[in-house]
Amino acid sequence: PDAIRLEAVAKQYPDGTTAVRALDLAVTAGEMVALVGPSGCGKTTTLKMINRLIEPSSGRILLDGEDVTRADATQLRRRIGYVIQSGGLFPHRTVLDNVGTVPSLLGWDKRRTRARATELLELVGLDPAVHGPRYPHQLSGGQRQRVGVARALAADPPVLLMDEPFGAVDPVVRDRLQVEFLRLQEQVGKTVVLVTHDIDEAVRLGDRIAVLSEGGVLEQYDTPAAVLGS
Ligand code: ADP
Ligand code: ADP
Repeated sequence: PDAIRLEAVAKQYPDGTTAVRALDLAVTAGEMVALVGPSGCGKTTTLKMINRLIEPSSGRILLDGEDVTRADATQLRRRIGYVIQSGGLFPHRTVLDNVGTVPSLLGWDKRRTRARATELLELVGLDPAVHGPRYPHQLSGGQRQRVGVARALAADPPVLLMDEPFGAVDPVVRDRLQVEFLRLQEQVGKTVVLVTHDIDEAVRLGDRIAVLSEGGVLEQYDTPAAVLGS
């Protein structure tokens, strides 16, 4: 089965706003799909539903063929890593503790959690001895985003959901982070849904682009050949 599959998914918030309507999307294992579209078209809502932070009003979401509403929260954290804009780090926890959040929740012992967090900081290009004991406000924007990626990868989930992961840094840093993320993805090989409103980023990082409009998938392209028209 597909790694992620959304079938006629709709979401209406309690205040009556329809954020997503009749969304169909299938993501193959190991594929990176970029969800693009204007602000307010339902991208974040879609990621939150896949992650079960919110429930769809109707339709089905399947992970490896299994309905996510049947999976428990701990199991989902093991299977899905979530990267949000600006890292979304806990401000009162050190970088090392931020990266160890999910392993701790999963009951890993302290030593194993620390060893994993150290390894991940190195993987995303930070120095564990220097940056590990710092608090998020003591890092640059680019460094916080690296920590956000490290945290999402900590329990080695097969699926990564990324919400504007490189949005809040200046263009030069973003460029570097994108290149590094592509290199990292070659090593870790996750199934990725990347939300962005930056079409260049979508073309650069995605294997496929799904364009959202008013809560539904408008069109899909393979990258880069299909987009470049060759
Ligand atoms: P995007 O990520 O594409 O910018 P969102 O998924 O954040 O879009 O939002 C889709 C629509 O749902 C927007 O109109 C937004 O204002 C609305 N929305 C988002 N969250 C809520 C909420 N908690 N309650 C009501 N409406 C919301
Ligand atoms: P970037 O090029 O990634 O945006 P910055 O110019 O923001 O980097 O930061 C440069 C260096 O200064 C980084 O190594 C960062 O760790 C450090 N730094 C930034 N803000 C603080 C702070 N409030 N306290 C300590 N170090 C900081």
